[in-house]
Amino acid sequence: MKIEIIKCLQDNFSYLIIDEKTQIACVIDPSEAAPILNFLKNKKINLKYILNTHHHYDHVGGNSELKKKCNSLVVGFKGDKDRIPEIDILLEDNQIWKEDKFEAKIYHIPGHTTGHIAFHFFKEKKIFTGDTLFSLGCGRLFEGTYEQMFNSLKKIKKLPKDTKVYCGHEYTLQNSKFCLANDPENFKLKEKINKIKDYLKKNLPTVPTTLEDELECNIFLKADNLKTFSKLRDLKDNF
Ligand code: ZN
Ligand code: FE
Repeated sequence: MKIEIIKCLQDNFSYLIIDEKTQIACVIDPSEAAPILNFLKNKKINLKYILNTHHHYDHVGGNSELKKKCNSLVVGFKGDKDRIPEIDILLEDNQIWKEDKFEAKIYHIPGHTTGHIAFHFFKEKKIFTGDTLFSLGCGRLFEGTYEQMFNSLKKIKKLPKDTKVYCGHEYTLQNSKFCLANDPENFKLKEKINKIKDYLKKNLPTVPTTLEDELECNIFLKADNLKTFSKLRDLKDNF
């Protein structure tokens, strides 16, 4: 299974998951169709599935056009069936979504929105976290409560440490400033920041990150109780 990172809009990441043997692919959160179609041009890849983590326009904006042009099926959370454009396959919490060579466990992780989900390709140890867990940050609470977000992150924290985390936006450098301000003695964080700056200088994405890095460096994952987490979330909104 090969992952292609495709930059969309200002700072969004869409991902193509390609089964190299069959050339069947999924796209995660196509913000817009053009960059995806551009990548697929002159390749024999069959974009069979469009997977959405949540309904925000910068994650579903390409659904309709891709579905039309590639004949794909749109896959998303059951609870968001009325706001994910062109949805075909409805998912539930804890279900395993299995099609062709793809197999992912679905986690309902509300907080950023009430219907947010993550796709965990557990055999490959890769998780697509949308706008819930970012590298060195977490999503804003648009619809959910502090407690929902705290519990959603807790679910992700339990996964194997060598899980690769693919998030929805390139916010890592900005996020790192907040982590450092609140965790100034964290040597591992400082090391990670150097690496991040290096990637960005070369115009490379800072994703994927690993769960291990995030557990050690992401201040929102280091918060071990709801009160601390909520306070950090408020502080970050005004940082
Ligand atoms: Zn969002
Ligand atoms: Fe987003």
